[in-house]
Amino acid sequence: QTTTAAAVRDAQEAHVTFEHVIGGASVASADGAVFETADPHTGAVYGTVARGGEEDVARAVAAARSAFDDGPWPRLSTRERRLLLNRLADRIEQEGDALAAAESRDMGKPISESRGHDVPRAAYNFRFFADFQDHAASESFPMSGFHSYARHEPVGVAGAISPWNFPLMLASWKVAPALAFGNTVVLKPAEQSPATATMLGRIAAEVLPEGVLNVVHGFGPGEAGEALVRHPDVQLLTFTGETTTGQAIMQTAAPTLKRLSLELGGKSPNLVFADADLDAAVAGTIRGIFSNQGEVCLAGSRLLVERAVYDEFLARLVAAAERLPIGPPLEETTKVGPLVSHEHRERVEGYVAIAAEDGGRVLTGGSRPDDPALAAGAYLRPTVIADLPRGSRCVREEIFGPVLVVAPFDDEAEAIRVANDTPYGLAAMLWTQDLRRAHRVGAALDVGTVWVNCFFVRDLRAPFGGAKGSGMGREGGYYSREFFTEAKTITMAL
Ligand code: NAD
Repeated sequence: QTTTAAAVRDAQEAHVTFEHVIGGASVASADGAVFETADPHTGAVYGTVARGGEEDVARAVAAARSAFDDGPWPRLSTRERRLLLNRLADRIEQEGDALAAAESRDMGKPISESRGHDVPRAAYNFRFFADFQDHAASESFPMSGFHSYARHEPVGVAGAISPWNFPLMLASWKVAPALAFGNTVVLKPAEQSPATATMLGRIAAEVLPEGVLNVVHGFGPGEAGEALVRHPDVQLLTFTGETTTGQAIMQTAAPTLKRLSLELGGKSPNLVFADADLDAAVAGTIRGIFSNQGEVCLAGSRLLVERAVYDEFLARLVAAAERLPIGPPLEETTKVGPLVSHEHRERVEGYVAIAAEDGGRVLTGGSRPDDPALAAGAYLRPTVIADLPRGSRCVREEIFGPVLVVAPFDDEAEAIRVANDTPYGLAAMLWTQDLRRAHRVGAALDVGTVWVNCFFVRDLRAPFGGAKGSGMGREGGYYSREFFTEAKTITMAL
Protein backbone atom coordinates (compact mmCIF):
# COMPACT_ATOMS: atom_id res chain seq x y z
CA GLN A 1 0.00 0.00 0.00
CA THR A 2 2.80 2.43 0.86
CA THR A 3 4.50 1.80 -2.45
CA THR A 4 1.19 2.30 -4.23
CA ALA A 5 0.66 5.59 -2.43
CA ALA A 6 4.16 6.71 -3.45
CA ALA A 7 3.57 5.62 -7.04
CA VAL A 8 0.27 7.49 -7.10
CA ARG A 9 1.90 10.64 -5.73
CA ASP A 10 4.71 10.44 -8.30
CA ALA A 11 2.17 9.88 -11.05
CA GLN A 12 0.21 12.94 -9.99
CA GLU A 13 3.15 15.25 -9.69
CA ALA A 14 5.37 14.58 -12.64
CA HIS A 15 5.23 16.12 -16.10
CA VAL A 16 6.30 13.20 -18.22
CA THR A 17 8.09 12.84 -21.54
CA PHE A 18 7.26 9.73 -23.53
CA GLU A 19 9.83 8.82 -26.16
CA HIS A 20 9.99 5.98 -28.64
CA VAL A 21 11.98 2.89 -27.66
CA ILE A 22 14.00 1.78 -30.68
CA GLY A 23 16.84 -0.74 -30.63
CA GLY A 24 16.86 -0.65 -26.83
CA ALA A 25 17.23 3.15 -26.55
CA SER A 26 14.76 5.91 -25.72
CA VAL A 27 14.71 8.30 -28.67
CA ALA A 28 12.84 11.38 -29.88
CA SER A 29 11.23 11.53 -33.33
CA ALA A 30 13.65 12.04 -36.20
CA ASP A 31 12.05 15.42 -36.97
CA GLY A 32 11.61 16.31 -33.29
CA ALA A 33 7.79 16.32 -33.56
CA VAL A 34 5.78 15.90 -30.34
CA PHE A 35 2.18 16.02 -29.16
CA GLU A 36 0.63 16.60 -25.76
CA THR A 37 -1.31 14.20 -23.63
CA ALA A 38 -3.87 15.24 -21.02
CA ASP A 39 -4.99 13.82 -17.68
CA PRO A 40 -8.71 12.97 -18.05
CA HIS A 41 -9.37 13.75 -14.37
CA THR A 42 -8.14 17.36 -14.60
CA GLY A 43 -8.24 17.98 -18.33
CA ALA A 44 -4.73 19.44 -18.00
CA VAL A 45 -1.75 18.48 -20.14
CA TYR A 46 0.65 16.30 -18.17
CA GLY A 47 2.89 14.75 -20.79
CA THR A 48 4.76 15.33 -24.03
CA VAL A 49 4.84 12.42 -26.45
CA ALA A 50 7.15 11.79 -29.40
CA ARG A 51 5.05 11.98 -32.57
CA GLY A 52 6.29 9.21 -34.80
CA GLY A 53 6.20 9.29 -38.58
CA GLU A 54 7.40 7.21 -41.48
CA GLU A 55 11.06 7.69 -40.67
CA ASP A 56 10.67 6.60 -37.03
CA VAL A 57 8.72 3.53 -38.09
CA ALA A 58 11.44 2.75 -40.63
CA ARG A 59 14.08 2.98 -37.89
CA ALA A 60 12.08 0.74 -35.58
CA VAL A 61 11.39 -1.84 -38.29
CA ALA A 62 15.09 -1.85 -39.21
CA ALA A 63 16.00 -2.47 -35.54
CA ALA A 64 13.44 -5.28 -35.32
CA ARG A 65 14.65 -6.73 -38.64
CA SER A 66 18.25 -6.75 -37.56
CA ALA A 67 17.30 -8.34 -34.21
CA PHE A 68 15.48 -11.02 -36.21
CA ASP A 69 18.11 -11.62 -38.91
CA ASP A 70 21.30 -11.18 -36.93
CA GLY A 71 20.28 -11.39 -33.27
CA PRO A 72 19.75 -14.45 -31.14
CA TRP A 73 15.99 -14.13 -30.57
CA PRO A 74 14.42 -16.40 -33.25
CA ARG A 75 17.21 -18.95 -32.80
CA LEU A 76 16.97 -19.29 -29.02
CA SER A 77 15.66 -22.58 -27.71
CA THR A 78 12.04 -22.52 -26.56
CA ARG A 79 13.34 -22.91 -23.03
CA GLU A 80 15.63 -19.87 -23.30
CA ARG A 81 12.79 -17.71 -24.62
CA ARG A 82 10.60 -19.03 -21.86
CA LEU A 83 13.06 -17.96 -19.18
CA LEU A 84 13.58 -14.48 -20.63
CA LEU A 85 9.88 -13.76 -21.07
CA ASN A 86 9.18 -14.95 -17.53
CA ARG A 87 11.87 -12.55 -16.37
CA LEU A 88 10.05 -9.79 -18.24
CA ALA A 89 6.84 -10.81 -16.42
CA ASP A 90 8.71 -10.64 -13.08
CA ARG A 91 9.81 -7.11 -13.90
CA ILE A 92 6.26 -6.07 -14.82
CA GLU A 93 5.10 -7.34 -11.44
CA GLN A 94 7.94 -5.55 -9.64
CA GLU A 95 6.98 -2.31 -11.39
CA GLY A 96 3.28 -3.04 -10.82
CA ASP A 97 2.49 -0.04 -8.61
CA ALA A 98 4.16 2.43 -10.95
CA LEU A 99 2.56 0.84 -14.03
CA ALA A 100 -0.90 0.86 -12.41
CA ALA A 101 -0.64 4.49 -11.32
CA ALA A 102 0.63 5.57 -14.74
CA GLU A 103 -2.17 3.70 -16.51
CA SER A 104 -4.90 5.20 -14.33
CA ARG A 105 -3.63 8.72 -14.70
CA ASP A 106 -3.19 8.31 -18.43
CA MET A 107 -6.64 7.04 -19.34
CA GLY A 108 -8.87 7.28 -16.25
CA LYS A 109 -9.21 3.63 -15.25
CA PRO A 110 -9.77 3.16 -11.47
CA ILE A 111 -6.47 2.26 -9.79
CA SER A 112 -8.00 -0.79 -8.12
CA GLU A 113 -8.63 -2.15 -11.64
CA SER A 114 -5.20 -1.28 -13.05
CA ARG A 115 -3.42 -2.77 -10.07
CA GLY A 116 -5.76 -5.70 -9.45
CA HIS A 117 -6.49 -6.67 -13.03
CA ASP A 118 -4.61 -5.00 -15.88
CA VAL A 119 -1.04 -5.25 -14.57
CA PRO A 120 -1.25 -8.85 -13.27
CA ARG A 121 -2.95 -9.88 -16.48
CA ALA A 122 -0.25 -8.23 -18.59
CA ALA A 123 2.42 -10.16 -16.66
CA TYR A 124 0.39 -13.34 -17.02
CA ASN A 125 0.06 -12.86 -20.79
CA PHE A 126 3.87 -13.05 -21.00
CA ARG A 127 4.06 -16.04 -18.65
CA PHE A 128 1.33 -17.90 -20.45
CA PHE A 129 2.79 -17.61 -23.97
CA ALA A 130 6.35 -18.11 -22.67
CA ASP A 131 5.32 -21.43 -21.15
CA PHE A 132 2.90 -22.39 -23.90
CA GLN A 133 5.45 -22.22 -26.72
CA ASP A 134 7.81 -24.37 -24.68
CA HIS A 135 5.14 -27.03 -24.09
CA ALA A 136 3.26 -26.92 -27.39
CA ALA A 137 3.14 -30.10 -29.42
CA SER A 138 3.53 -30.24 -33.16
CA GLU A 139 1.78 -32.49 -35.68
CA SER A 140 3.39 -35.62 -37.03
CA PHE A 141 1.92 -37.70 -39.87
CA PRO A 142 3.38 -41.20 -40.32
CA MET A 143 2.80 -42.31 -43.94
CA SER A 144 3.56 -45.44 -45.84
CA GLY A 145 7.24 -45.07 -46.85
CA PHE A 146 7.36 -41.43 -45.78
CA HIS A 147 7.01 -39.29 -42.68
CA SER A 148 5.56 -35.78 -42.58
CA TYR A 149 5.83 -33.41 -39.70
CA ALA A 150 5.08 -29.73 -39.06
CA ARG A 151 7.43 -27.05 -37.83
CA HIS A 152 6.16 -23.72 -36.53
CA GLU A 153 8.77 -21.13 -37.35
CA PRO A 154 8.96 -17.44 -36.45
CA VAL A 155 7.67 -15.24 -39.29
CA GLY A 156 9.80 -12.10 -38.92
CA VAL A 157 8.84 -8.59 -37.83
CA ALA A 158 5.39 -8.32 -36.28
CA GLY A 159 3.55 -5.00 -36.17
CA ALA A 160 1.16 -4.50 -33.24
CA ILE A 161 -1.32 -1.62 -33.09
CA SER A 162 -3.25 -1.30 -29.86
CA PRO A 163 -6.16 0.78 -28.49
CA TRP A 164 -6.39 2.97 -25.38
CA ASN A 165 -8.98 1.15 -23.29
CA PHE A 166 -6.68 -1.51 -21.77
CA PRO A 167 -3.35 -0.06 -22.90
CA LEU A 168 -0.92 -2.37 -21.12
CA MET A 169 -3.08 -5.46 -21.05
CA LEU A 170 -3.95 -5.37 -24.77
CA ALA A 171 -0.42 -4.45 -25.82
CA SER A 172 0.85 -7.48 -23.89
CA TRP A 173 -1.85 -9.66 -25.46
CA LYS A 174 -0.19 -8.93 -28.81
CA VAL A 175 3.46 -8.55 -27.89
CA ALA A 176 3.66 -11.66 -25.69
CA PRO A 177 2.67 -14.27 -28.29
CA ALA A 178 4.53 -12.46 -31.08
CA LEU A 179 7.76 -12.61 -29.06
CA ALA A 180 7.15 -16.03 -27.56
CA PHE A 181 6.91 -17.60 -31.01
CA GLY A 182 10.23 -16.00 -31.98
CA ASN A 183 9.24 -12.85 -33.87
CA THR A 184 10.53 -9.37 -33.16
CA VAL A 185 8.02 -6.56 -32.69
CA VAL A 186 7.21 -2.93 -33.40
CA LEU A 187 4.36 -1.76 -31.16
CA LYS A 188 2.35 1.36 -31.98
CA PRO A 189 0.23 2.15 -28.90
CA ALA A 190 -2.82 4.39 -29.04
CA GLU A 191 -2.05 8.11 -29.03
CA GLN A 192 -4.41 8.65 -26.05
CA SER A 193 -2.46 6.27 -23.78
CA PRO A 194 1.32 6.36 -24.32
CA ALA A 195 2.43 5.78 -20.71
CA THR A 196 2.56 2.06 -19.99
CA ALA A 197 3.69 1.11 -23.51
CA THR A 198 6.74 3.32 -22.99
CA MET A 199 7.40 1.66 -19.63
CA LEU A 200 6.96 -1.80 -21.16
CA GLY A 201 9.44 -0.89 -23.94
CA ARG A 202 12.02 0.20 -21.37
CA ILE A 203 11.55 -2.89 -19.21
CA ALA A 204 11.91 -5.09 -22.30
CA ALA A 205 15.09 -3.23 -23.26
CA GLU A 206 16.60 -4.24 -19.89
CA VAL A 207 15.66 -7.90 -20.15
CA LEU A 208 15.57 -8.87 -23.84
CA PRO A 209 18.17 -8.64 -26.61
CA GLU A 210 18.43 -5.28 -28.37
CA GLY A 211 15.71 -4.45 -30.88
CA VAL A 212 13.44 -7.37 -30.00
CA LEU A 213 10.64 -5.04 -28.81
CA ASN A 214 10.40 -1.51 -30.21
CA VAL A 215 7.75 1.09 -29.42
CA VAL A 216 6.82 3.95 -31.73
CA HIS A 217 4.28 6.54 -30.56
CA GLY A 218 2.00 8.59 -32.72
CA PHE A 219 -1.29 8.77 -34.57
CA GLY A 220 -2.88 6.41 -37.07
CA PRO A 221 -3.92 7.79 -40.46
CA GLY A 222 -1.05 9.22 -42.48
CA GLU A 223 1.36 8.87 -39.54
CA ALA A 224 3.05 6.15 -37.45
CA GLY A 225 0.16 3.64 -37.52
CA GLU A 226 -0.32 3.77 -41.26
CA ALA A 227 3.43 3.71 -41.90
CA LEU A 228 3.69 0.49 -39.89
CA VAL A 229 0.85 -1.12 -41.84
CA ARG A 230 2.39 -0.02 -45.15
CA HIS A 231 5.95 -1.11 -44.36
CA PRO A 232 7.05 -3.95 -46.69
CA ASP A 233 9.34 -5.47 -44.07
CA VAL A 234 6.55 -6.04 -41.54
CA GLN A 235 5.25 -9.54 -42.27
CA LEU A 236 2.29 -9.72 -39.95
CA LEU A 237 0.11 -7.23 -38.18
CA THR A 238 -2.10 -7.66 -35.15
CA PHE A 239 -4.59 -4.85 -34.61
CA THR A 240 -7.19 -4.07 -31.96
CA GLY A 241 -9.44 -1.08 -32.41
CA GLU A 242 -12.50 0.19 -34.22
CA THR A 243 -14.13 -1.71 -37.04
CA THR A 244 -13.71 1.20 -39.48
CA THR A 245 -9.98 1.36 -38.63
CA GLY A 246 -9.75 -2.38 -39.29
CA GLN A 247 -11.24 -1.81 -42.74
CA ALA A 248 -8.72 0.96 -43.49
CA ILE A 249 -5.85 -1.24 -42.27
CA MET A 250 -6.91 -4.13 -44.50
CA GLN A 251 -6.81 -1.85 -47.54
CA THR A 252 -3.44 -0.37 -46.63
CA ALA A 253 -1.99 -3.82 -45.95
CA ALA A 254 -3.17 -5.39 -49.22
CA PRO A 255 -0.22 -4.44 -51.47
CA THR A 256 2.27 -6.07 -49.08
CA LEU A 257 0.02 -9.11 -48.44
CA LYS A 258 0.48 -8.85 -44.70
CA ARG A 259 -1.00 -11.48 -42.51
CA LEU A 260 -3.68 -9.74 -40.42
CA SER A 261 -5.41 -10.40 -37.14
CA LEU A 262 -8.18 -7.88 -36.46
CA GLU A 263 -9.95 -7.56 -33.10
CA LEU A 264 -12.61 -4.92 -33.63
CA GLY A 265 -15.64 -3.27 -32.07
CA GLY A 266 -18.69 -4.77 -30.41
CA LYS A 267 -22.28 -4.17 -29.33
CA SER A 268 -22.71 -7.27 -27.26
CA PRO A 269 -26.13 -8.50 -26.14
CA ASN A 270 -26.75 -9.47 -22.53
CA LEU A 271 -29.78 -11.78 -22.21
CA VAL A 272 -31.52 -12.20 -18.86
CA PHE A 273 -34.11 -14.98 -18.71
CA ALA A 274 -36.83 -14.97 -16.04
CA ASP A 275 -35.40 -18.11 -14.40
CA ALA A 276 -31.97 -16.51 -13.83
CA ASP A 277 -30.37 -15.89 -10.46
CA LEU A 278 -31.30 -12.21 -10.59
CA ASP A 279 -28.77 -11.10 -7.96
CA ALA A 280 -25.94 -12.57 -10.02
CA ALA A 281 -27.46 -11.19 -13.23
CA VAL A 282 -27.71 -7.64 -11.82
CA ALA A 283 -24.11 -7.76 -10.56
CA GLY A 284 -22.86 -9.23 -13.86
CA THR A 285 -24.81 -6.71 -15.92
CA ILE A 286 -23.40 -3.80 -13.92
CA ARG A 287 -19.87 -5.14 -14.33
CA GLY A 288 -20.50 -5.94 -17.98
CA ILE A 289 -21.39 -2.37 -18.93
CA PHE A 290 -19.93 -0.02 -16.31
CA SER A 291 -16.49 -1.47 -15.56
CA ASN A 292 -13.76 0.57 -17.24
CA GLN A 293 -16.46 3.26 -17.76
CA GLY A 294 -18.01 1.04 -20.44
CA GLU A 295 -14.90 1.50 -22.57
CA VAL A 296 -14.71 -2.22 -23.19
CA CYS A 297 -15.01 -3.88 -26.59
CA LEU A 298 -16.77 -6.83 -24.93
CA ALA A 299 -19.19 -4.64 -22.92
CA GLY A 300 -22.71 -6.02 -22.61
CA SER A 301 -24.15 -2.80 -24.00
CA ARG A 302 -27.56 -4.12 -25.15
CA LEU A 303 -29.56 -5.59 -22.27
CA LEU A 304 -32.51 -7.83 -23.18
CA VAL A 305 -34.70 -9.00 -20.28
CA GLU A 306 -37.58 -11.49 -20.35
CA ARG A 307 -40.78 -9.53 -19.87
CA ALA A 308 -41.92 -11.37 -16.70
CA VAL A 309 -39.01 -9.90 -14.73
CA TYR A 310 -38.36 -6.75 -16.82
CA ASP A 311 -39.65 -4.10 -14.39
CA GLU A 312 -38.20 -5.76 -11.31
CA PHE A 313 -34.83 -6.28 -12.97
CA LEU A 314 -34.59 -2.69 -14.18
CA ALA A 315 -35.46 -1.32 -10.74
CA ARG A 316 -32.68 -3.36 -9.17
CA LEU A 317 -30.25 -2.51 -11.94
CA VAL A 318 -30.86 1.23 -11.65
CA ALA A 319 -30.42 1.10 -7.86
CA ALA A 320 -27.12 -0.77 -8.29
CA ALA A 321 -25.91 1.68 -10.98
CA GLU A 322 -26.65 4.62 -8.69
CA ARG A 323 -24.61 3.05 -5.89
CA LEU A 324 -21.41 2.87 -8.00
CA PRO A 325 -18.80 5.29 -6.60
CA ILE A 326 -17.70 7.78 -9.28
CA GLY A 327 -14.41 9.45 -8.51
CA PRO A 328 -10.79 10.25 -9.36
CA PRO A 329 -9.04 7.26 -10.97
CA LEU A 330 -6.18 7.31 -8.47
CA GLU A 331 -8.51 6.94 -5.47
CA GLU A 332 -8.88 3.44 -4.05
CA THR A 333 -12.66 3.59 -3.60
CA THR A 334 -13.43 4.65 -7.17
CA LYS A 335 -15.35 2.20 -9.35
CA VAL A 336 -16.15 4.58 -12.23
CA GLY A 337 -13.49 7.06 -13.36
CA PRO A 338 -13.50 9.70 -16.09
CA LEU A 339 -13.75 8.71 -19.76
CA VAL A 340 -10.46 8.69 -21.66
CA SER A 341 -10.79 12.30 -22.84
CA HIS A 342 -13.17 15.23 -23.00
CA GLU A 343 -13.61 14.68 -26.76
CA HIS A 344 -14.63 11.09 -26.16
CA ARG A 345 -17.14 12.17 -23.51
CA GLU A 346 -18.68 14.57 -26.04
CA ARG A 347 -19.06 11.73 -28.48
CA VAL A 348 -20.77 9.57 -25.83
CA GLU A 349 -23.02 12.47 -24.77
CA GLY A 350 -23.95 12.82 -28.43
CA TYR A 351 -25.47 9.34 -28.23
CA VAL A 352 -27.47 10.33 -25.12
CA ALA A 353 -28.86 13.27 -27.14
CA ILE A 354 -29.76 10.93 -30.01
CA ALA A 355 -31.57 8.69 -27.52
CA ALA A 356 -33.69 11.65 -26.39
CA GLU A 357 -34.59 12.49 -30.02
CA ASP A 358 -35.49 8.85 -30.66
CA GLY A 359 -37.93 8.77 -27.71
CA GLY A 360 -35.65 6.94 -25.26
CA ARG A 361 -36.44 7.10 -21.53
CA VAL A 362 -33.34 7.72 -19.38
CA LEU A 363 -33.81 5.57 -16.27
CA THR A 364 -30.63 6.85 -14.63
CA GLY A 365 -27.57 8.93 -15.56
CA GLY A 366 -27.39 10.68 -18.90
CA SER A 367 -25.59 13.62 -17.29
CA ARG A 368 -22.32 14.61 -15.63
CA PRO A 369 -21.90 14.09 -11.88
CA ASP A 370 -22.81 17.06 -9.63
CA ASP A 371 -19.68 16.75 -7.46
CA PRO A 372 -17.67 19.99 -8.01
CA ALA A 373 -14.45 18.04 -7.37
CA LEU A 374 -15.10 16.18 -10.64
CA ALA A 375 -16.19 19.17 -12.72
CA ALA A 376 -12.91 19.51 -14.63
CA GLY A 377 -12.74 15.81 -15.55
CA ALA A 378 -14.32 13.84 -18.41
CA TYR A 379 -16.90 12.19 -16.14
CA LEU A 380 -20.31 10.85 -17.12
CA ARG A 381 -22.75 9.06 -14.81
CA PRO A 382 -23.62 5.43 -15.51
CA THR A 383 -26.58 5.64 -17.86
CA VAL A 384 -29.48 3.28 -18.57
CA ILE A 385 -31.91 4.04 -21.41
CA ALA A 386 -35.17 2.19 -22.20
CA ASP A 387 -37.89 2.38 -24.88
CA LEU A 388 -35.62 3.01 -27.85
CA PRO A 389 -36.71 1.81 -31.29
CA ARG A 390 -34.52 -1.03 -32.59
CA GLY A 391 -33.25 1.13 -35.44
CA SER A 392 -31.93 3.90 -33.15
CA ARG A 393 -28.22 4.57 -33.58
CA CYS A 394 -27.89 4.08 -29.80
CA VAL A 395 -29.07 0.51 -30.23
CA ARG A 396 -27.05 -0.25 -33.35
CA GLU A 397 -23.72 1.56 -32.92
CA GLU A 398 -20.91 1.00 -30.46
CA ILE A 399 -21.02 3.88 -27.93
CA PHE A 400 -17.91 2.79 -25.99
CA GLY A 401 -18.98 4.51 -22.80
CA PRO A 402 -21.14 3.90 -19.70
CA VAL A 403 -24.42 3.74 -21.62
CA LEU A 404 -26.69 0.69 -21.52
CA VAL A 405 -29.77 0.32 -23.74
CA VAL A 406 -32.48 -2.04 -22.49
CA ALA A 407 -35.48 -3.80 -24.02
CA PRO A 408 -37.86 -6.61 -23.02
CA PHE A 409 -38.38 -9.91 -24.92
CA ASP A 410 -41.20 -12.43 -24.80
CA ASP A 411 -39.57 -15.75 -25.66
CA GLU A 412 -36.28 -17.43 -26.45
CA ALA A 413 -36.70 -17.19 -30.22
CA GLU A 414 -37.25 -13.43 -30.03
CA ALA A 415 -34.27 -13.03 -27.68
CA ILE A 416 -31.98 -14.80 -30.15
CA ARG A 417 -33.34 -12.87 -33.13
CA VAL A 418 -32.86 -9.48 -31.47
CA ALA A 419 -29.45 -10.44 -30.02
CA ASN A 420 -28.20 -11.36 -33.50
CA ASP A 421 -29.71 -8.27 -35.16
CA THR A 422 -26.44 -6.30 -35.21
CA PRO A 423 -23.49 -5.88 -37.56
CA TYR A 424 -21.20 -6.88 -34.66
CA GLY A 425 -20.46 -10.33 -33.24
CA LEU A 426 -17.86 -10.09 -30.53
CA ALA A 427 -19.48 -11.54 -27.41
CA ALA A 428 -22.75 -12.26 -25.62
CA MET A 429 -23.83 -12.95 -22.07
CA LEU A 430 -26.76 -14.98 -20.96
CA TRP A 431 -28.25 -15.54 -17.55
CA THR A 432 -30.42 -18.61 -16.95
CA GLN A 433 -30.55 -21.63 -14.64
CA ASP A 434 -31.86 -23.87 -17.42
CA LEU A 435 -28.89 -25.92 -18.63
CA ARG A 436 -30.46 -26.97 -21.91
CA ARG A 437 -31.43 -23.42 -22.73
CA ALA A 438 -27.90 -22.23 -21.97
CA HIS A 439 -26.43 -24.65 -24.53
CA ARG A 440 -29.18 -24.00 -27.08
CA VAL A 441 -28.97 -20.20 -26.94
CA GLY A 442 -25.17 -20.26 -26.70
CA ALA A 443 -25.03 -22.20 -29.96
CA ALA A 444 -27.52 -19.88 -31.70
CA LEU A 445 -25.70 -16.61 -31.01
CA ASP A 446 -23.49 -15.30 -33.85
CA VAL A 447 -20.53 -14.24 -31.72
CA GLY A 448 -16.97 -15.24 -30.87
CA THR A 449 -17.49 -15.65 -27.12
CA VAL A 450 -20.57 -16.52 -25.02
CA TRP A 451 -20.53 -16.15 -21.25
CA VAL A 452 -23.21 -18.08 -19.35
CA ASN A 453 -23.86 -16.72 -15.84
CA CYS A 454 -20.52 -14.90 -15.85
CA PHE A 455 -18.65 -12.16 -17.65
CA PHE A 456 -15.07 -11.43 -18.73
CA VAL A 457 -13.68 -14.84 -17.75
CA ARG A 458 -10.85 -15.77 -20.10
CA ASP A 459 -8.73 -18.85 -20.47
CA LEU A 460 -5.80 -17.91 -22.68
CA ARG A 461 -5.86 -21.34 -24.33
CA ALA A 462 -9.35 -20.71 -25.73
CA PRO A 463 -9.98 -19.03 -29.10
CA PHE A 464 -10.70 -15.31 -28.80
CA GLY A 465 -11.95 -13.04 -31.56
CA GLY A 466 -15.00 -11.61 -33.24
CA ALA A 467 -17.63 -12.83 -35.69
CA LYS A 468 -19.15 -10.55 -38.37
CA GLY A 469 -17.99 -6.91 -38.07
CA SER A 470 -16.11 -7.61 -34.83
CA GLY A 471 -13.02 -9.03 -36.39
CA MET A 472 -11.08 -11.50 -38.39
CA GLY A 473 -9.12 -14.42 -37.04
CA ARG A 474 -8.73 -15.83 -33.57
CA GLU A 475 -5.95 -15.55 -31.01
CA GLY A 476 -5.26 -17.60 -27.87
CA GLY A 477 -3.29 -20.83 -27.36
CA TYR A 478 -2.77 -22.74 -30.61
CA TYR A 479 -4.75 -20.05 -32.48
CA SER A 480 -2.03 -17.56 -31.58
CA ARG A 481 0.63 -19.98 -32.73
CA GLU A 482 -1.15 -20.35 -36.04
CA PHE A 483 -1.15 -16.59 -36.52
CA PHE A 484 2.32 -15.78 -35.20
CA THR A 485 4.26 -18.60 -36.89
CA GLU A 486 4.89 -19.91 -40.37
CA ALA A 487 3.78 -23.54 -40.39
CA LYS A 488 6.08 -25.63 -42.53
CA THR A 489 5.63 -29.26 -43.53
CA ILE A 490 8.71 -31.44 -43.92
CA THR A 491 8.18 -34.80 -45.62
CA MET A 492 10.95 -37.37 -45.61
CA ALA A 493 11.28 -40.62 -47.53
CA LEU A 494 12.01 -43.46 -45.13
P1 NAD B 1 -9.02 3.13 -33.02
O1 NAD B 1 -9.37 2.21 -34.13
O2 NAD B 1 -9.39 4.55 -33.15
O3 NAD B 1 -7.45 3.13 -32.76
C1 NAD B 1 -6.76 1.95 -32.44
C2 NAD B 1 -5.33 2.09 -32.85
O4 NAD B 1 -5.24 2.17 -34.27
C3 NAD B 1 -4.62 3.33 -32.32
O5 NAD B 1 -3.30 2.97 -31.97
C4 NAD B 1 -4.62 4.25 -33.53
O6 NAD B 1 -3.58 5.20 -33.52
C5 NAD B 1 -4.45 3.27 -34.66
N1 NAD B 1 -4.95 3.72 -35.97
C6 NAD B 1 -6.02 4.52 -36.23
N2 NAD B 1 -6.17 4.67 -37.56
C7 NAD B 1 -5.19 3.96 -38.15
C8 NAD B 1 -4.81 3.73 -39.51
N3 NAD B 1 -5.49 4.26 -40.53
N4 NAD B 1 -3.74 2.94 -39.75
C9 NAD B 1 -3.05 2.38 -38.73
N5 NAD B 1 -3.35 2.57 -37.43
C10 NAD B 1 -4.41 3.35 -37.14
O7 NAD B 1 -9.64 2.49 -31.72
P2 NAD B 1 -9.61 3.06 -30.22
O8 NAD B 1 -10.57 4.21 -30.16
O9 NAD B 1 -8.23 3.24 -29.76
O10 NAD B 1 -10.20 1.82 -29.41
C11 NAD B 1 -11.54 1.60 -29.26
C12 NAD B 1 -12.03 0.55 -30.23
O11 NAD B 1 -11.29 -0.64 -30.07
C13 NAD B 1 -13.47 0.16 -29.98
O12 NAD B 1 -14.12 0.01 -31.22
C14 NAD B 1 -13.35 -1.19 -29.30
O13 NAD B 1 -14.46 -2.02 -29.39
C15 NAD B 1 -12.17 -1.76 -29.97
N6 NAD B 1 -11.58 -2.83 -29.14
C16 NAD B 1 -11.68 -4.12 -29.56
C17 NAD B 1 -11.16 -5.17 -28.79
C18 NAD B 1 -11.28 -6.60 -29.22
O14 NAD B 1 -10.61 -7.45 -28.61
N7 NAD B 1 -12.07 -6.93 -30.22
C19 NAD B 1 -10.51 -4.86 -27.58
C20 NAD B 1 -10.43 -3.51 -27.18
C21 NAD B 1 -10.95 -2.50 -27.99
